[in-house]
Amino acid sequence: MATQLLFRDDAYMRSASARVLAADERGIELDRTIFYPLGGGQAGDTGNLLRANGERIPIADTRKGEVLDSVLHVPAPGMQRPEPGEPVTLEIDWERRYRLMRLHTALHVMSCVIVAPVTGGNISPDKARLDFDIDMSLLDAGNIERETNALIARGVETETVWITDEELDARPELVKTMSVQPPRGAGRVRLLRIPGIDLQPCGGTHVKNIAEIGGIRVLKIRSEGRRNRRVEIALAS
Ligand SMILES: [Zn+2]
Repeated sequence: MATQLLFRDDAYMRSASARVLAADERGIELDRTIFYPLGGGQAGDTGNLLRANGERIPIADTRKGEVLDSVLHVPAPGMQRPEPGEPVTLEIDWERRYRLMRLHTALHVMSCVIVAPVTGGNISPDKARLDFDIDMSLLDAGNIERETNALIARGVETETVWITDEELDARPELVKTMSVQPPRGAGRVRLLRIPGIDLQPCGGTHVKNIAEIGGIRVLKIRSEGRRNRRVEIALAS
């Protein structure tokens, strides 16, 4: 069942009300959600569902369901399942999510400092990484950190743009990530634009202004196979 993805239009919603569509051993489906499901390298949200009787259902993870825009809220083990039709209040672990948003947006900025095809990526609350198809000798931690932080210091507002599948097909240069093609089939593709810095397809959650990232530190750069170089970063504070 499709869920209205509230985080897509407003990544800053910390709570919302919703109604239970279904609940089984795989997870709880809702008519609308602020919980981001694991995808595009970004970890799924955690938080709580509050039932009308005051009971709290901790959500340990969020995953995509089988159909487009369906979301499975995975409760902590041993919790009672809510009933279909039941109203619930959603609360995400905002501190964790905000770190994910800052790190995720930082990767967009860093991907413009390291000019090479992106072969993979991952964002967890404490650190994030991008893998590049690039020669090791071209990667210098100090330079990457300095140049990424200089772009972050521009403090520009991010924008969400939607284009059609056909428009994206006509502009293949927008897709930097070789391993992860943007999701097709909905007829339109969501892009993140950081004016003057980056424009690429992305379904994740981002900060409104890149100044919110604050700054990054490069934790390590290492070789991950013949063509892969992994650059791992953390928030500077
Ligand atoms: Zn993104």
